Amino acid sequence: MVFRKRRKIIPAKTPGELDAMQAAGEIVGKALQAVKAAATAGVSTLDLDKVAEDVIRGAGATPTFQGYQGFPASICVSINTEIVHGIPNDRTRVQTGDLVSIDCGATLDGWVGDSAWTFGVGGQEVLKPPAAALNEATEWVLMEGMKAMIPGNRLSDVSHALEQATRQAEQRWDITLGIVDGYGGHGIGRTMHEQPWLANEGRPGRGPLIQEGSVLAIEPMLTLGGVDSFVLDDGWTVVTADGSLAAHWEHTVAATATGPRILTPRYKITK
Ligand code: MG
Ligand code: MG
Repeated sequence: MVFRKRRKIIPAKTPGELDAMQAAGEIVGKALQAVKAAATAGVSTLDLDKVAEDVIRGAGATPTFQGYQGFPASICVSINTEIVHGIPNDRTRVQTGDLVSIDCGATLDGWVGDSAWTFGVGGQEVLKPPAAALNEATEWVLMEGMKAMIPGNRLSDVSHALEQATRQAEQRWDITLGIVDGYGGHGIGRTMHEQPWLANEGRPGRGPLIQEGSVLAIEPMLTLGGVDSFVLDDGWTVVTADGSLAAHWEHTVAATATGPRILTPRYKITK
Protein backbone atom coordinates (compact mmCIF):
# COMPACT_ATOMS: atom_id res chain seq x y z
CA MET A 1 0.00 0.00 0.00
CA VAL A 2 1.08 3.53 -0.63
CA PHE A 3 0.31 6.20 1.88
CA ARG A 4 0.34 9.75 0.74
CA LYS A 5 2.03 11.58 3.55
CA ARG A 6 1.12 15.09 4.46
CA ARG A 7 4.02 17.43 4.05
CA LYS A 8 5.75 17.80 7.39
CA ILE A 9 7.90 20.79 6.54
CA ILE A 10 7.12 24.05 4.78
CA PRO A 11 9.50 24.01 1.76
CA ALA A 12 12.57 26.22 1.97
CA LYS A 13 13.75 28.82 -0.50
CA THR A 14 17.48 29.43 -0.91
CA PRO A 15 18.91 32.83 0.11
CA GLY A 16 19.09 33.72 -3.58
CA GLU A 17 15.46 32.79 -4.06
CA LEU A 18 14.47 34.92 -1.07
CA ASP A 19 16.29 37.85 -2.65
CA ALA A 20 14.37 37.23 -5.88
CA MET A 21 11.10 37.11 -3.95
CA GLN A 22 11.99 40.37 -2.21
CA ALA A 23 12.67 42.02 -5.56
CA ALA A 24 9.06 41.19 -6.49
CA GLY A 25 7.86 42.20 -3.04
CA GLU A 26 9.51 45.62 -3.17
CA ILE A 27 7.56 46.37 -6.35
CA VAL A 28 4.37 45.53 -4.46
CA GLY A 29 5.48 47.90 -1.71
CA LYS A 30 6.02 50.70 -4.23
CA ALA A 31 2.63 50.05 -5.82
CA LEU A 32 0.92 50.21 -2.42
CA GLN A 33 2.69 53.48 -1.59
CA ALA A 34 1.68 54.98 -4.92
CA VAL A 35 -1.95 53.89 -4.49
CA LYS A 36 -2.13 55.39 -1.03
CA ALA A 37 -0.67 58.68 -2.31
CA ALA A 38 -3.24 58.74 -5.13
CA ALA A 39 -6.23 57.86 -2.94
CA THR A 40 -7.71 61.30 -2.41
CA ALA A 41 -11.40 62.18 -2.17
CA GLY A 42 -13.27 61.57 -5.43
CA VAL A 43 -10.73 59.24 -7.06
CA SER A 44 -12.26 56.07 -8.48
CA THR A 45 -11.04 52.65 -7.45
CA LEU A 46 -10.37 51.97 -11.14
CA ASP A 47 -8.00 54.95 -11.18
CA LEU A 48 -6.21 53.45 -8.18
CA ASP A 49 -5.92 50.18 -10.05
CA LYS A 50 -4.24 51.97 -12.98
CA VAL A 51 -1.75 53.57 -10.58
CA ALA A 52 -0.78 50.14 -9.25
CA GLU A 53 -0.56 48.57 -12.69
CA ASP A 54 1.67 51.38 -13.96
CA VAL A 55 4.09 50.94 -11.05
CA ILE A 56 4.19 47.16 -11.46
CA ARG A 57 4.63 47.13 -15.24
CA GLY A 58 7.01 50.09 -15.07
CA ALA A 59 9.27 47.99 -12.85
CA GLY A 60 9.24 45.14 -15.38
CA ALA A 61 6.91 42.94 -13.35
CA THR A 62 3.39 41.69 -14.02
CA PRO A 63 0.31 42.19 -11.82
CA THR A 64 -0.24 38.76 -10.26
CA PHE A 65 -3.92 39.38 -9.55
CA GLN A 66 -4.85 40.09 -13.19
CA GLY A 67 -6.68 37.05 -14.48
CA TYR A 68 -6.18 35.11 -11.25
CA GLN A 69 -9.28 32.90 -11.17
CA GLY A 70 -10.79 35.49 -13.48
CA PHE A 71 -10.08 38.54 -11.29
CA PRO A 72 -10.07 41.55 -13.64
CA ALA A 73 -7.65 43.97 -11.94
CA SER A 74 -4.20 44.49 -10.43
CA ILE A 75 -5.36 45.30 -6.89
CA CYS A 76 -8.26 44.53 -4.62
CA VAL A 77 -9.85 47.66 -3.11
CA SER A 78 -12.06 46.98 -0.11
CA ILE A 79 -13.75 49.95 1.55
CA ASN A 80 -15.13 50.21 5.11
CA THR A 81 -17.38 47.14 5.64
CA GLU A 82 -15.67 45.30 2.76
CA ILE A 83 -13.00 42.96 4.08
CA VAL A 84 -11.12 41.73 0.99
CA HIS A 85 -11.40 41.16 -2.78
CA GLY A 86 -13.21 44.37 -3.74
CA ILE A 87 -13.11 44.85 -7.53
CA PRO A 88 -11.86 48.21 -8.85
CA ASN A 89 -14.48 50.03 -10.93
CA ASP A 90 -15.18 53.50 -12.29
CA ARG A 91 -18.31 54.10 -10.17
CA THR A 92 -16.84 53.67 -6.69
CA ARG A 93 -14.99 56.78 -5.57
CA VAL A 94 -13.14 56.94 -2.29
CA GLN A 95 -14.18 59.65 0.17
CA THR A 96 -12.41 61.39 3.01
CA GLY A 97 -12.65 59.26 6.12
CA ASP A 98 -13.09 55.98 4.25
CA LEU A 99 -11.14 53.02 5.62
CA VAL A 100 -9.57 51.57 2.47
CA SER A 101 -7.78 48.22 2.20
CA ILE A 102 -5.51 47.63 -0.79
CA ASP A 103 -4.21 44.14 -1.59
CA CYS A 104 -1.62 43.78 -4.34
CA GLY A 105 0.62 41.15 -5.93
CA ALA A 106 3.50 41.34 -8.39
CA THR A 107 5.37 38.63 -10.26
CA LEU A 108 9.02 39.26 -11.21
CA ASP A 109 11.31 36.66 -12.77
CA GLY A 110 8.79 33.99 -11.83
CA TRP A 111 8.55 34.90 -8.14
CA VAL A 112 5.54 36.42 -6.40
CA GLY A 113 5.16 39.07 -3.69
CA ASP A 114 1.80 39.57 -1.95
CA SER A 115 1.03 42.37 0.48
CA ALA A 116 -1.86 44.46 1.75
CA TRP A 117 -2.46 47.46 3.93
CA THR A 118 -5.33 49.60 5.12
CA PHE A 119 -5.36 53.39 5.44
CA GLY A 120 -7.73 56.29 5.93
CA VAL A 121 -8.47 58.52 2.95
CA GLY A 122 -7.24 61.94 4.08
CA GLY A 123 -4.94 60.37 6.65
CA GLN A 124 -5.21 58.21 9.73
CA GLU A 125 -6.16 61.31 11.75
CA VAL A 126 -9.42 61.90 9.88
CA LEU A 127 -10.69 58.39 10.63
CA LYS A 128 -13.28 58.09 13.34
CA PRO A 129 -11.57 56.86 16.54
CA PRO A 130 -12.84 53.26 16.36
CA ALA A 131 -11.72 52.95 12.72
CA ALA A 132 -8.30 54.36 13.54
CA ALA A 133 -7.98 51.94 16.46
CA LEU A 134 -9.02 48.98 14.30
CA ASN A 135 -6.43 49.89 11.70
CA GLU A 136 -3.58 50.42 14.16
CA ALA A 137 -4.51 47.20 15.92
CA THR A 138 -4.56 45.13 12.72
CA GLU A 139 -1.12 46.36 11.68
CA TRP A 140 0.17 45.61 15.18
CA VAL A 141 -1.32 42.11 15.09
CA LEU A 142 0.51 41.42 11.81
CA MET A 143 3.83 42.62 13.22
CA GLU A 144 3.39 40.70 16.48
CA GLY A 145 2.11 37.54 14.81
CA MET A 146 4.98 37.36 12.33
CA LYS A 147 7.43 37.12 15.24
CA ALA A 148 6.44 33.43 15.38
CA MET A 149 7.79 32.96 11.84
CA ILE A 150 11.03 31.36 13.01
CA PRO A 151 12.74 28.04 12.23
CA GLY A 152 11.61 25.28 14.56
CA ASN A 153 8.10 26.62 15.07
CA ARG A 154 5.11 24.94 13.52
CA LEU A 155 2.55 26.51 11.20
CA SER A 156 -0.12 26.95 13.86
CA ASP A 157 2.36 28.73 16.15
CA VAL A 158 1.95 31.66 13.74
CA SER A 159 -1.85 31.27 13.87
CA HIS A 160 -1.75 31.21 17.64
CA ALA A 161 0.53 34.24 17.81
CA LEU A 162 -1.90 36.17 15.58
CA GLU A 163 -4.82 35.21 17.81
CA GLN A 164 -2.93 36.09 21.01
CA ALA A 165 -1.93 39.44 19.53
CA THR A 166 -5.54 40.10 18.53
CA ARG A 167 -6.73 39.51 22.08
CA GLN A 168 -3.92 41.73 23.43
CA ALA A 169 -4.83 44.43 20.91
CA GLU A 170 -8.37 44.49 22.29
CA GLN A 171 -6.90 45.51 25.63
CA ARG A 172 -4.38 47.98 24.21
CA TRP A 173 -6.92 49.83 22.08
CA ASP A 174 -9.98 49.11 24.25
CA ILE A 175 -11.97 47.65 21.36
CA THR A 176 -13.60 44.34 20.53
CA LEU A 177 -12.17 42.60 17.48
CA GLY A 178 -13.53 39.83 15.27
CA ILE A 179 -11.10 37.49 13.52
CA VAL A 180 -12.79 36.93 10.14
CA ASP A 181 -13.74 33.27 9.93
CA GLY A 182 -12.55 31.14 7.01
CA TYR A 183 -9.93 33.49 5.59
CA GLY A 184 -6.19 33.47 6.24
CA GLY A 185 -2.68 33.44 4.88
CA HIS A 186 -0.82 30.95 2.72
CA GLY A 187 2.39 29.57 1.37
CA ILE A 188 3.80 31.57 -1.54
CA GLY A 189 6.65 31.28 -4.01
CA ARG A 190 6.46 30.77 -7.76
CA THR A 191 2.68 31.00 -7.45
CA MET A 192 0.66 33.24 -5.17
CA HIS A 193 -1.33 30.66 -3.26
CA GLU A 194 0.56 27.56 -2.19
CA GLN A 195 0.20 25.07 0.63
CA PRO A 196 -0.15 25.36 3.53
CA TRP A 197 -3.14 27.51 4.37
CA LEU A 198 -2.52 29.65 7.45
CA ALA A 199 -5.37 30.24 9.90
CA ASN A 200 -5.43 33.57 11.74
CA GLU A 201 -6.23 31.82 15.03
CA GLY A 202 -5.83 28.41 16.61
CA ARG A 203 -4.01 26.18 19.03
CA PRO A 204 -0.19 26.23 18.82
CA GLY A 205 2.22 23.43 17.94
CA ARG A 206 0.43 21.87 14.98
CA GLY A 207 0.97 21.61 11.25
CA PRO A 208 4.15 21.50 9.18
CA LEU A 209 7.47 22.69 10.53
CA ILE A 210 8.80 26.12 9.66
CA GLN A 211 12.44 25.91 8.56
CA GLU A 212 15.05 28.40 7.42
CA GLY A 213 13.79 29.70 4.08
CA SER A 214 10.11 28.82 4.61
CA VAL A 215 7.87 31.62 3.33
CA LEU A 216 4.29 32.48 4.27
CA ALA A 217 1.98 35.33 3.37
CA ILE A 218 0.63 36.38 6.77
CA GLU A 219 -2.58 38.42 6.62
CA PRO A 220 -4.80 39.18 9.59
CA MET A 221 -8.32 40.34 8.65
CA LEU A 222 -10.06 41.93 11.64
CA THR A 223 -13.43 43.58 12.23
CA LEU A 224 -14.93 45.83 14.87
CA GLY A 225 -17.76 43.33 15.12
CA GLY A 226 -18.37 39.69 14.35
CA VAL A 227 -16.41 37.01 12.54
CA ASP A 228 -18.97 36.23 9.83
CA SER A 229 -18.84 37.46 6.25
CA PHE A 230 -20.48 36.91 2.90
CA VAL A 231 -19.59 37.43 -0.75
CA LEU A 232 -21.49 40.03 -2.78
CA ASP A 233 -23.28 39.18 -6.04
CA ASP A 234 -20.17 40.25 -7.98
CA GLY A 235 -18.71 36.92 -6.87
CA TRP A 236 -15.66 38.52 -5.26
CA THR A 237 -16.22 41.23 -2.69
CA VAL A 238 -16.23 39.85 0.85
CA VAL A 239 -18.15 42.01 3.34
CA THR A 240 -18.80 41.77 7.07
CA ALA A 241 -22.13 40.12 7.81
CA ASP A 242 -22.97 42.61 10.57
CA GLY A 243 -21.90 45.73 8.68
CA SER A 244 -18.92 46.36 10.95
CA LEU A 245 -15.70 47.94 9.68
CA ALA A 246 -12.83 45.69 8.59
CA ALA A 247 -9.06 46.08 8.15
CA HIS A 248 -6.52 43.86 6.38
CA TRP A 249 -2.72 43.91 6.65
CA GLU A 250 -0.42 41.46 4.89
CA HIS A 251 3.26 40.80 4.37
CA THR A 252 5.12 38.00 2.61
CA VAL A 253 7.50 36.80 5.33
CA ALA A 254 10.46 34.38 5.32
CA ALA A 255 11.78 32.52 8.33
CA THR A 256 15.54 33.02 8.61
CA ALA A 257 18.24 32.18 11.13
CA THR A 258 18.23 35.81 12.24
CA GLY A 259 14.45 36.10 12.54
CA PRO A 260 11.46 36.90 10.34
CA ARG A 261 12.35 38.68 7.10
CA ILE A 262 9.69 40.82 5.42
CA LEU A 263 9.94 40.26 1.66
CA THR A 264 7.39 42.98 0.86
CA PRO A 265 8.95 46.04 2.56
CA ARG A 266 7.39 49.44 1.99
CA TYR A 267 10.13 51.99 1.92
CA LYS A 268 9.12 55.60 2.38
CA ILE A 269 8.79 57.35 -0.95
CA THR A 270 10.57 60.70 -0.93
CA LYS A 271 9.66 63.10 -3.67
MG1 MG B 1 -2.75 39.63 -0.68
MG1 MG C 1 -2.27 36.72 0.40
